[in-house]
Amino acid sequence: MKKPFVTQEQLKEITKKYPTPFHIYDEKGIRENARKLKEAFAWNKGFKEYFAVKATPNPYILKVLKEEGCGADCSSMTELMLSEALGITGDDIMFSSNATPPEEFVKAKEVNAIINLDDFTHIDFLKRVAGIPETICCRYNPGGIFQISNGIMDNPGDAKYGFTKEQMIEGYKKLMTLGAKHFGIHSFLASNTVTNEYYPILAKILFELAVELHEKTGAHVKFINLSGGVGIPYKPDQPANDIMEIGEGVRKAFEEVLVPAGMGDVEIYTELGRFMLAPYGHLVATAVHEKHIYKEYIGLDACAVNLMRPAMYGSYHHITVMGKENAPCDHKYDVTGSLCENNDKFAIDRMLPKIDIGDFIVIHDTGAHGYSMGYNYNGKLRSAELLLKEDGSVQLIRRAEEPKDYFATFDFDDILKNMKYE
Ligand SMILES: *Cc1c(COP(=O)(O)O)cnc(C)c1O
Repeated sequence: MKKPFVTQEQLKEITKKYPTPFHIYDEKGIRENARKLKEAFAWNKGFKEYFAVKATPNPYILKVLKEEGCGADCSSMTELMLSEALGITGDDIMFSSNATPPEEFVKAKEVNAIINLDDFTHIDFLKRVAGIPETICCRYNPGGIFQISNGIMDNPGDAKYGFTKEQMIEGYKKLMTLGAKHFGIHSFLASNTVTNEYYPILAKILFELAVELHEKTGAHVKFINLSGGVGIPYKPDQPANDIMEIGEGVRKAFEEVLVPAGMGDVEIYTELGRFMLAPYGHLVATAVHEKHIYKEYIGLDACAVNLMRPAMYGSYHHITVMGKENAPCDHKYDVTGSLCENNDKFAIDRMLPKIDIGDFIVIHDTGAHGYSMGYNYNGKLRSAELLLKEDGSVQLIRRAEEPKDYFATFDFDDILKNMKYE
């Protein structure tokens, strides 16, 4: 059973000051989980987690993670700016982008981020726009189909990312002639994996590649970046990943492949987003309408603008009707938002307790790729973000958008000069 990290009583207090909808994050949960990840990889001296900023690009969240020793994985200009503003620079930034605009390479080089090249042709591109740094990383795409014991995980052959094997070898050689001295390997082969096997299998592939690259090019492989992809159980009956077992699996592959090759000093990096934040965020909404036609509908004050995953991927997000945690789930509902889009449904045919107007609805696991995927369709405004601190107090960490924010990009002339804001 999934239990919210806030109580109905807390929500009653919080909503006196901050009306629904909002995203709320659990600082205690975030810190404990970050510490567990660190412990799972403590066997590796250089281990570092670079939090995937795109998952939850909020400076207060980044600050908490920074305090837990995490760096930042950035993929755009604004993510670089955000990290820099928090004093996260240099080796604490991994810049993993693709189809990269020139000014973003310039910015990444300026803050001395570790640049992770997505393509062979980006070597010349980077050389031209910003120069080749001494430490550099190349993203690997093995092609084909990525399979583990319980089936096919993903299809790298269809993915737009990374270098082929041959390009990795040629790329390393070329980068060495251009002055690069320390190298990284990065790969992201499957998303939201709910199995302890993903990282260990990926690690073995990358460790073997590291040995081959070292043998064929003489390059110094400094680190291997296992990237993101460790998932979370969105459904209540799914077992969670065991990060200790995952760390141990990676250690075994390390002992088996890298240590005998004399490469036992290679540093392991991760770039987790979902695993770091998803379970520690809720989207809190209020039931504002009920509708009885061919099906039963509950209309919320939140919509897909606040959480796009169900509309975009048909993702399951667990729902708790606050105050009715122990009531029988004997009503079948479609739980919807207010967009003029029929895919704006947080749940379809979901068995829930009877919902009454005014009930608080907690949508679980929205801490990563939740708020950050938001948009403004139908002129809907983005919600606030709140942080439930370790001492139980609640801090506003992003205010809700107001109409003036929605219209802000028309400020170059006076066409909306008669617009009145409340
Ligand atoms: C999105 C992304 C991540 C984080 O992925 P999660 O599934 O949230 O762990 C890490 N690295 C790169 C390059 C990404 O694009």
